Amino acid sequence: MITKKVFWDLCIYMIILGIIVGLIFPFYALMLGTPSSHVLKPFFILSSVAAGIFVGFFNYFLAKRIVGKRIKVLAMKMNRIKEIISERNESAANIDCEDASCRIVVDSDDELGEAASSFNALVASLSVSYKTENSLKVFNKTISSRLELNLMCDAALNQIVDHSQSAGGLIIIEQNGELEIISHRGIKENKELLKHEIIWRVLRKMEIESIRLPEDIKIDGILVSYQPKEILFVPIIYKELCLGIILLASTSYYNEQMKSDIQLLNSSFSLALKNALSYNQLQELAANDPLTNIFNRRFGLMRLSEEYARSLRNNSPIGVFIADIDFFKSVNDTYGHTVGDRVLIQITRTAKQALREGDIFIRYGGEEFMAILPGASYKDTQLVAEKFRRMVQESSVQHLDQEIKVTISIGITSFPENDASKMEEIIEKADQALYRAKDSGRNCVI
Ligand code: GH3
Ligand code: MG
Ligand code: MG
Repeated sequence: MITKKVFWDLCIYMIILGIIVGLIFPFYALMLGTPSSHVLKPFFILSSVAAGIFVGFFNYFLAKRIVGKRIKVLAMKMNRIKEIISERNESAANIDCEDASCRIVVDSDDELGEAASSFNALVASLSVSYKTENSLKVFNKTISSRLELNLMCDAALNQIVDHSQSAGGLIIIEQNGELEIISHRGIKENKELLKHEIIWRVLRKMEIESIRLPEDIKIDGILVSYQPKEILFVPIIYKELCLGIILLASTSYYNEQMKSDIQLLNSSFSLALKNALSYNQLQELAANDPLTNIFNRRFGLMRLSEEYARSLRNNSPIGVFIADIDFFKSVNDTYGHTVGDRVLIQITRTAKQALREGDIFIRYGGEEFMAILPGASYKDTQLVAEKFRRMVQESSVQHLDQEIKVTISIGITSFPENDASKMEEIIEKADQALYRAKDSGRNCVI
């Protein structure tokens, strides 16, 4: 380097070269037979040197025009990217650099062309990585603002499906040893899917798996209404524990970049899912009876007061019954408390079958349960209670080689058919009816 300016250095070298060529040229002409009287004249020598200097200058201008122009474009584009990045840092907005303003036209097949394409590739990968980072920010914000399990999973699935440009997806989670589809979009909620061996394999091995479907295999529309090309099964892992699986289906193949983006979103999701599950458990603990996992008395009565208020407001009926196990003390005395506990759990299961969705079943006391049936008339309540009584009578708990059967007595009431000016009166009426049921021989509905 002479001047610290590449093109000035180039110019100086070219002029020196021009002077040397200008000085040599007269002797070269002499060798070719030009008479010395012509060439060894100061004018000829000076003209040769002047021509050399001119060519040197001309080369410099050409280089500056052809190479310099391209390098200037490169510098301008680099500046533009720098501006976009700094603007983005301030506003945290996405950068979109797929347009021509960020790209260089590759018009030569040499080092300069190579520099231009490398620059374009750099910008493209920068743009992809910023997009991913931005999606991750939005994703984290969305899922961390929701603690409720279903809402959080719905929001997470929506964003994962959108970001991965999938046609559909669903989230399976494992809770209390059972698999459950907690969210789905674009894929039907088919429980058969949970039995598929690939689901169990992914849960066990905790590794991502994918199925690529050849064009000629048609899916019959049980699960999806489109023709997927690839289905991904991504394990949701939190601290070496598999919490579930995200299933994604796409009508094109997932590339490696996309898979790594999905994993990135998944790692945030797994933490949020763990939090939501813990929150859910806390909520349940507060509201539920630990043995039967149904509402406890305190929470159940709160629900009854809400339902009673709603019934008054909407002028809709509400049915309530209280069920008590007959001679339950003797079950405990004969088989022990643990077997008694299993009977209580079994009755809860039976109730879930006998009641409709939206009905509320409460552990009202030790071996007493209360059911709230919003919208049920007196007749409806009677029918449901009778069905429940019969189902309990028919069910049993296996203990060693014995089948333990119990019966229940039920007292029912309903509002407004049985008038009640406050919630306590409803409970009192059901209690009185239960007392009469016990009095009239048990295993009946009064
Ligand atoms: P009745 O037909 O008059 O209702 O007779 P009963 O024996 O069912 O009535 P009682 O009120 O005398 O007995 C209720 C029994 O329920 C006594 C108690 O040990 C038992 N119990 C209450 N809570 C639990 C529980 O959580 N687990 C078990 N195993 N037993 C319980
Ligand atoms: Mg009792
Ligand atoms: Mg009892």
